[in-house]
Amino acid sequence: MRRSAVAIALIVVLAATSMTVWAQAKKAPEKAKDPVCGIMVDKDPNLSTEYKGEKYYFCSKADMEKFKKEPEKYVKKK
Ligand SMILES: [Zn+2]
Repeated sequence: MRRSAVAIALIVVLAATSMTVWAQAKKAPEKAKDPVCGIMVDKDPNLSTEYKGEKYYFCSKADMEKFKKEPEKYVKKK
C-alpha cells in the first residue's frame, strides 16, 4: 500500500514537472531585454518601469534610473 502511494506520488510529481517544462517551452520566455545594456533579464517587478504603455525590465537599479532619466534615448534603439 505504502509503496504504491509513493510510486503514484512520484509519477504525479514527474508529470507535473514535465508539464511545467512543456508549458514554459510553449509560453513566451519570462525574460525581457534590458534596454539600457541590452542583456536579457528576468522579469523582476522590482526592476521594472512603464513607459508609453510598455513595460521595461532592467538588470539593476542603476540601469532603471538611467532609463527613467532619458527613456527616449533607450527606447529608440530597437
Ligand atoms: Zn542593464
